[in-house]
Amino acid sequence: MRHPLVMGNWKLNGSKHLVNDLITALRSELSGVVGCDVAIAPPVMYLDQAKHQLAGSRLALGAQNVDVNLSGAFTGEVSAAMLKDIGAKYIIIGHSERRTYHKESDELIAKKFAVLKDAGLIPVLCIGESEAENEAGQTEAVCARQLDAVLTTLGAGAFENAVIAYEPIWAIGTGKSATPAQAQAVHKFIRDHIAKQDAAVAEQVILQYGGSVNAGNAAELFTQPDIDGALVGGASLKADAFAVIVKAA
Ligand code: PEP
Repeated sequence: MRHPLVMGNWKLNGSKHLVNDLITALRSELSGVVGCDVAIAPPVMYLDQAKHQLAGSRLALGAQNVDVNLSGAFTGEVSAAMLKDIGAKYIIIGHSERRTYHKESDELIAKKFAVLKDAGLIPVLCIGESEAENEAGQTEAVCARQLDAVLTTLGAGAFENAVIAYEPIWAIGTGKSATPAQAQAVHKFIRDHIAKQDAAVAEQVILQYGGSVNAGNAAELFTQPDIDGALVGGASLKADAFAVIVKAA
């Protein structure tokens, strides 16, 4: 039985003030909620503050990126060990914004995945196609390629205790979510693709949907059998909307 995970990706948003207010509001909105794992991923600058403010709550801490290097002369980077040290649990990798703006390749992302597993952290691997790829009927091929980068180097076992977020790029931040049926079809494809190598691992891997999830569309998305929660961008910055999404899961 898979336990849904709803995770907020705060992206490049926040301040000490916002972290304080948002976590205070989330703690109150989500107190007593069970049956769904919840995590927030603030900017790296605020992880320590967030960890302290989350103490004693059921909300877990996440981060938005990790470097492949473990330590040394890599200016500006953050290692898996540092994220672990600060108390983060779920680490987003392969987000389309990093693939696009930072030219991160499938191979680099597979290395990040391996580094996180080695550190005992849970990767949240984002995959998904662009609008042009979607219109060209390449959705499954793109997702398969992005998954295969991990599968061929680490094997299907890598997805044990890992999370995959299917995030069609055309749905991110656009207000145009995939329909529940569209998302379900891709989620089923992803699970079947992993099952070709290891059925047990495929059955337990958490498959989140991400892309304009909001308080109005979450419940219907979560009725789908292969949608195990959501990775939420914009709506995760509003405690009331995020709480509705969590409760729907
Ligand atoms: C995201 O960036 O991971 C995301 C899903 O954003 P939004 O919910 O704003 O579409």
